[in-house]
Amino acid sequence: MNKTTRKTTTKKTTRPPASQPAAVPAAPAKVRVATMWLSGCSGCHMSFLDLDERLVDLAKLIDILFSPIVDTKVKDMPQVDVGIVEGCVNNTDQEHELKMLRDRCKILIALGDCACTGNMPALRNQFPLKDCLARAYEQAESNRISCIPNDPVVPKLYPKARPLQEVVKVDLHIPGCPPDADVIWYALTELLAGRTPQWNEKNLRYD
Ligand code: SF4
Repeated sequence: MNKTTRKTTTKKTTRPPASQPAAVPAAPAKVRVATMWLSGCSGCHMSFLDLDERLVDLAKLIDILFSPIVDTKVKDMPQVDVGIVEGCVNNTDQEHELKMLRDRCKILIALGDCACTGNMPALRNQFPLKDCLARAYEQAESNRISCIPNDPVVPKLYPKARPLQEVVKVDLHIPGCPPDADVIWYALTELLAGRTPQWNEKNLRYD
């Protein structure tokens, strides 16, 4: 048997270049949102939550950075694209908060009738402030101690409850008490599409 000697030749192997990861297209920036709850019953925020599974779709498009319904641990209100406000302005703190949001957002939305017109909190407007305070803190049957709060840390109640547009510029009103979740969805998706929501008999029916 012939011994064959194998010539071992070392081939220079050139490694294929390391594959480059495919470029991931940058995700479009989400719209930054803050929501605020002034003098209202929270029903408008609850109606927002009634978007239910549509909240998942919305979360792909917006980031809620500051709101009573999210746990952000953020003390200072950040700059946002859209500010959504429930409730009207009843006291000094609320006016301050609203003006701060107006300064820090591009579009301000009055959500619900309290924000748009004063609605329920403004029912007190037909009575003098001192009578309202006396009724609430001195005469109410549920009060055990009759005492009108006067600590300086307590925000001062204004003589009248005011809708938002009497305090700051409002860009969009979403009426309703509360606005139906479908109406909120319509308004937000129109804005996200770059259109101005149009109100008509169909989308503002309350039956
Ligand atoms: S508009 Fe109606 S639901 Fe919304 S905060 Fe006012 S009372 Fe509540």
